[in-house]
Amino acid sequence: MPLGPAQAHYLGAVMRLGPGARIEVFNGRDGAWTAEIEAVGKRGGSLALVAQAAPQRDPPDVWLMFAPIKKARTDFIVEKATELGAARILPVQTDHTNAERIARDRLQAHAVEAAEQCGGTFVPEVAALAPLSGLLDRWDTGRRILWADEALAGPAATLATLPRGPWAILIGPEGGWSAAERARLGALEGVTRVSLGPRILRADTAAVAALALWQAALGDW
Ligand code: SAM
Repeated sequence: MPLGPAQAHYLGAVMRLGPGARIEVFNGRDGAWTAEIEAVGKRGGSLALVAQAAPQRDPPDVWLMFAPIKKARTDFIVEKATELGAARILPVQTDHTNAERIARDRLQAHAVEAAEQCGGTFVPEVAALAPLSGLLDRWDTGRRILWADEALAGPAATLATLPRGPWAILIGPEGGWSAAERARLGALEGVTRVSLGPRILRADTAAVAALALWQAALGDW
């Protein structure tokens, strides 16, 4: 199995490993594998797979849609969503979103690191930034939406009675939802509007809280 320059640099220069050293690897599809370093240099190297160390573990079918905020907090959302078992991460532009672009490669690399840190074998895809309105235009209503609306702040939602199956959690930006978005989401089939408790949470905290509530009630916790 070939090693790219960044992987070879990490193993050889950062971890100071050489030929014969054993490491654990995963590709997001085939579980975790023990592998032996065959060669490692500045431009690349190679690994030999030895044996499967763990089976593939995919998360439940829950997506996280959120409006990107400041860089460090967006990084935090991607990292925590991966640890909490989001199957896909979709940054969305809403009426009050500030960000016009995201560093998708950097965010995807954060997802890989987070999966490595928590012993995962699955890496969620970080999708390109897309307008929420366009996503809703072509939404497959077979995937329900758990819409966190700060206007509902109060006793937290009980999700256990909701149907199982594919879901997407939707978290708004620092500026919250516009009246037009509230009207659109309120009229869309398969949308459940929920409270995340009596306090207004920052968007990054809200993403973590909503994923935890969903996983505990409908997911694999
Ligand atoms: N600027 C808004 C305000 O002052 O009311 C707050 C927006 S909040 C920082 C960002 C997002 O987190 C909201 O759009 C919502 O999706 C979610 N959120 C935060 N607290 C919530 C709560 N208690 N219940 C439901 N959603 C919440």
